[in-house]
Amino acid sequence: MENPLILSIHAEERAGQENLSDDDILFVRKHGYKLPNAGVVFRQLRRDRIPVQLPGSHRYRQLVGTTVVLCPTCESFVITVYRNEAAFGKDKKKRRYNQKRQVLRCPYCGTLHKMI
Ligand SMILES: [Zn+2]
Repeated sequence: MENPLILSIHAEERAGQENLSDDDILFVRKHGYKLPNAGVVFRQLRRDRIPVQLPGSHRYRQLVGTTVVLCPTCESFVITVYRNEAAFGKDKKKRRYNQKRQVLRCPYCGTLHKMI
């Protein structure tokens, strides 16, 4: 049983801008490459993580490069999402989600996330 998907207000806005559905985000969470960083978990969908049985025209193939930033404790709470970053190295520098100071508490497990 997978944990439910809970989007932060910011993640909802970002998902709308990037035209990402909950199904898309769940797929990236499940198949994305996991990288813990700065108190969160990045899940980035890489081409080699797409299941081989997925048809070549499937919409999930458009998700390569999409990154979901999650609570590291439960991976239920989505802090933000974005598409098509070149590499994790770039993610570390960019940090779009922390342009303003904020503290988020995961509504699922209660972990505090300091976005500094
Ligand atoms: Zn959590």
